[in-house]
Amino acid sequence: PLTPRFSLLHSRFWDYTPATPMPAPHVVALNHALAEQLGIDWQQQQNLSDYLIGNQLPQGSRAPFYPIASVYSGHQFGVNVPQLGDGRALLIAEFTDPSGQHWEMQLKGAGPTPYSRRGDGRAVLRSSIREYLASEALHHLGIPTNRALAIGGSPQTIWRETRETAAVVMRLAPTFVRFGHFEYFFYQGEPERITELADWVIKHHYPDCANAENPYLALLNAVISRTAQLIARWQAVGFCHGVMNTDNMSILGLTIDYGPYGFLDGFDAGHICNHSDDSGRYAYNQQPQIGLWNLHCLAQALLPLSNKDELLAALGQYQPQFEAAFAEQLRRKLGFTQWQEDDWTLVTDLFELMQATHTDWTIFWRTLSHWPVQRNTAQLRDLFLARAQFDDWLERYERRLRLNDEQAGLDELAMQARSQAMLAANPKYILRNYLAENAIAKAQAGDFSEIERLQRCLMQPFAEQPEFEAYAALPPDWAREISVSCSS
Ligand code: AMP
Ligand code: MG
Ligand code: MG
Repeated sequence: PLTPRFSLLHSRFWDYTPATPMPAPHVVALNHALAEQLGIDWQQQQNLSDYLIGNQLPQGSRAPFYPIASVYSGHQFGVNVPQLGDGRALLIAEFTDPSGQHWEMQLKGAGPTPYSRRGDGRAVLRSSIREYLASEALHHLGIPTNRALAIGGSPQTIWRETRETAAVVMRLAPTFVRFGHFEYFFYQGEPERITELADWVIKHHYPDCANAENPYLALLNAVISRTAQLIARWQAVGFCHGVMNTDNMSILGLTIDYGPYGFLDGFDAGHICNHSDDSGRYAYNQQPQIGLWNLHCLAQALLPLSNKDELLAALGQYQPQFEAAFAEQLRRKLGFTQWQEDDWTLVTDLFELMQATHTDWTIFWRTLSHWPVQRNTAQLRDLFLARAQFDDWLERYERRLRLNDEQAGLDELAMQARSQAMLAANPKYILRNYLAENAIAKAQAGDFSEIERLQRCLMQPFAEQPEFEAYAALPPDWAREISVSCSS
């Protein structure tokens, strides 16, 4: 049974928009583990692929509640765009799963909407695979994100730089409300709609805020915390979002709208994953401060509901919260029981060494995780050009470990436990760009098996999986040449 929530908001928030059918649908990918969790039985569904691309809708999904496209705006690359909106995403259902979690279900790429502007309302197979794999990869890395339930495909041709085929991602989140939803009604001068949306978000997603003296200020504080946490986790696994426009920022602090994202291979602080991002606005090392910039936009949209000085004071909490969250991630990665202020120096010096060699981010941390037990010093040293300097660093690291253990009253066993904890914090498997490219190339030739295989591997990123050993290796040379843009 469907339980409308978003679609019960004022009709200013959305427009009833039927999906546009496509011919000859087929299944590209099914997320069986997630379906099971949601109590969805694919076997029961006749014409499954018609449902995946929007030719048919789930039972109970009908006018006027569904499908709907919502309106939002946002700052794209720092520039305010008065109206964006769901240009190719449709909300087709809202329901509560057996565990009591409530979900919004969207189809991305199911046809044009009132907000498509010059776009065709479609998504290509390539970008749909990237969104599907990355959502699930991040989820299993413990990073807040929307989920991906399935991909449906059609031979229908769509044009980007070249001729491609269309696909639709079926995706889920507790809500897809973005900073941009608030911004839209702020710039339209409709404070009553901002109030309505803020009340709705608090009621369904931040119920604790309702008890605060100023619930709207409490809401901003909560979103600041979630955003700081999210970006600290991105930085820790080397995830670059690529398009951190405010319309792509979730009010729940989820990773959403996967486009030209990328995981770091070799460490490069200024890495720009989005080929269209000429100035590097969304480079890896810019993400934390862009988070704050975006929160300013959200705070501004809340001005009609709150006091300016209080909102500004709340924003002042972002930097310390981000630093604390990032320190916590680094503490776990380094295997310390407590973080000390001068650990920042140890980390900064490490990053400098990694930058000089473009040391592989994931392999370094995974190898370091074994060091407390295996003393695999040569293996670590080989990841750096400046070997002597790295040896110095490793000596400092060892001294720091011993100091840590003395303070924590830990004995020899601590090294075993430490290594285990580090292996649970430093993934062996991430969605490297070239791995996604391989799955895409095969899929474009009609073989979807690599999507399934890769997804299965990424469900256990911290586990040793001998059958997937190759996915944990250094990327091949051609990986450097891959270029991803906003075109999707
Ligand atoms: P993005 O940066 O990909 O999140 O998209 C920014 C805006 O462009 C959003 O409003 C999208 O819905 C819209 N958009 C992107 N691609 C398309 C497309 N192919 N058709 C219609 N709208 C699109
Ligand atoms: Mg309307
Ligand atoms: Mg977007």
